[in-house]
Amino acid sequence: MSSLSTMKSTTLEDLSFCAVVENKVASLLNFSNQEWRLDSLNQLFSQRDVELIRSIPLCSKPVDDALIWPYTPTGSYTVKSGYRFLYNARCLDSGEYNPVDNKLWKKVWSLQVQPKVRNFLWRAIKNSIPTKHNLRRRMVLANDDCDHCHCESEDVLHALWSCPSISQVWSQNNLWANSVSSPGFSSFKDLVETIVETGEDLNIFATTVWAIWNRRNSMRTSGKHIPVQQLWVVVTMAEAVVTVADRGRC
Ligand SMILES: [Zn+2]
Repeated sequence: MSSLSTMKSTTLEDLSFCAVVENKVASLLNFSNQEWRLDSLNQLFSQRDVELIRSIPLCSKPVDDALIWPYTPTGSYTVKSGYRFLYNARCLDSGEYNPVDNKLWKKVWSLQVQPKVRNFLWRAIKNSIPTKHNLRRRMVLANDDCDHCHCESEDVLHALWSCPSISQVWSQNNLWANSVSSPGFSSFKDLVETIVETGEDLNIFATTVWAIWNRRNSMRTSGKHIPVQQLWVVVTMAEAVVTVADRGRC
């Protein structure tokens, strides 16, 4: 890296630009002992940046500069890593890529639940399940009032969490005490992020919302009321599965 421009090769924020622009990294190195030239660093950079630069390890013996591909451990280009690089760049450009979403996505796809439950949870987070609110947005329905409480629009958060008709599900035990006591959530995704942050069990949560959605769909298609208590069977089974899995890890 010694022939690189100090300006182009750095991510430092507080530079003495005029002095740095024409310099090469080589001017900051003492090749006789393979160390940074402290006098030059102190002259050109703030103390904070000097410490950052000094934390960059240097080779113990002189080597020629070489081009490397920074997206593989070996530094060699592969088609796969090139594709991944372009894909992420395109997402960044279009605003699709979000590190927080990426983290949440990994969390959801590592859940110890059935694939259909994982898939449903992710679609709910992305607001892509056919709630009445979403159907109304697509001009499929004229009215999006919740069929159960008739007092609010049925969006994802309402259908799976805040509808009074399912409040017993979330208040029946202390599993969701932190989330239930939280002030209002702005979206279902906001709720899921809180569940993750508070350490409440996302496996049981995912299974519960999946069961709530299935009950809701069964009632819509059959026209028959299904007691909310029937959900407890599913939730209890999910708790049992998680408990067995936890014991297996001990
Ligand atoms: Zn409702």
